[in-house]
Amino acid sequence: MKVVTVVGARPQFIKAAIVSHVLRKKHTEVLIHTGQHFDHNMSDLFFEELDIPRPDYNLGVSGGTHAEMTGRMMMAIEKVLQTERPDWLLVYGDTNSTLAAALSAAKLHIPVCHVEAGARLHTLHNPEEINRVCTDHIGSLLLASTQSGFEELEKENLGERSQFVGDPMFDAFRKYSEKLAVQDVRLRLLTGGEASVPDKFYYLTCHREENTKDDSTILEILQAMEKLNAPTIYPVHPRIRERALSLQEKYRIKNMLLVEPVGYMESTFLVRHAEKIVTDSGGLQREAFFAGKKCVTVFNFPIWPETMVGNRNNLAAPNAEEILAKLDLKQNIDDSYQPFGDGYAAEKIVVALENGWNKILI
Ligand code: UDP
Repeated sequence: MKVVTVVGARPQFIKAAIVSHVLRKKHTEVLIHTGQHFDHNMSDLFFEELDIPRPDYNLGVSGGTHAEMTGRMMMAIEKVLQTERPDWLLVYGDTNSTLAAALSAAKLHIPVCHVEAGARLHTLHNPEEINRVCTDHIGSLLLASTQSGFEELEKENLGERSQFVGDPMFDAFRKYSEKLAVQDVRLRLLTGGEASVPDKFYYLTCHREENTKDDSTILEILQAMEKLNAPTIYPVHPRIRERALSLQEKYRIKNMLLVEPVGYMESTFLVRHAEKIVTDSGGLQREAFFAGKKCVTVFNFPIWPETMVGNRNNLAAPNAEEILAKLDLKQNIDDSYQPFGDGYAAEKIVVALENGWNKILI
């Protein structure tokens, strides 16, 4: 079986790291990196740290509007697919790279396998939701990370092509999250120099379009963190680097370390050791859940409802008071509740590809 996998963004590198190693034991994988994330800290660092096979094709497409990026990716991916003629296209998640690859393959009658299928916000006012919904509807094999994701697919009449396999992010967390000790984690400050990890700290990530399009929204989040009883570590996405720095200076935010994006092992170290977590990232919400850490998600919609059980993760509007109030809600953890699979999603994904391939050939 020959599989072309397309990745382009940080969370996809993490999932591919887990699945590629299993897939390559028996099958041929050709890896395309679209270039959507290209900074060293957002891309190469993950390939090095997680020992991801080197991409066979680097398309170098990044920036521009959503349509420009998606269109340029499609043109480049189509050429590779015509050359490689794989049995499957494999894509992850919800980025423009996911959608561009799925559209290009479907038009060439190459079956598309979508991992993390069925995640839904139920609003099209979110760019990632558009990518997810479109990819699921043109996909041939839809692999859900949770049972509720599978049920969403059934509601959209996609049940026959769908399967619950578990979450490769959970596999990755189990495999990589305890590799580092505190002295291995060096934080590179955006203002220059390095810092070590404080004994007690909160962990913040915030980069979603909805939370960063105007200054007042990010400022509310920074001001909430400023009031906490320990400093916050905030690895800043390159997209908002300059604005975060200027807001910190203008509003004298002192109780916060603005740092360069960290690698995956560093990030999962921070998740495991933080007091609490504030985020707008789909991946970080789940990692907080895996680690049993209280999380507040600054967003209007629950994308991973399983994490919200027992107040383990609460939604908050981008409003300082609300974020602080939600952080104060006590969580109730039931260790037997594990909705993200058994830690062997990668193996199940490869078996699903093998079985689906047989079916398509018949
Ligand atoms: N992450 C990381 N370094 C950072 C911030 C986040 O490795 O500086 C990891 C984080 O642990 C999670 C993933 O990146 O596994 C989430 O990626 P992102 O927030 O970009 O995407 P999303 O989860 O929103 O799709």
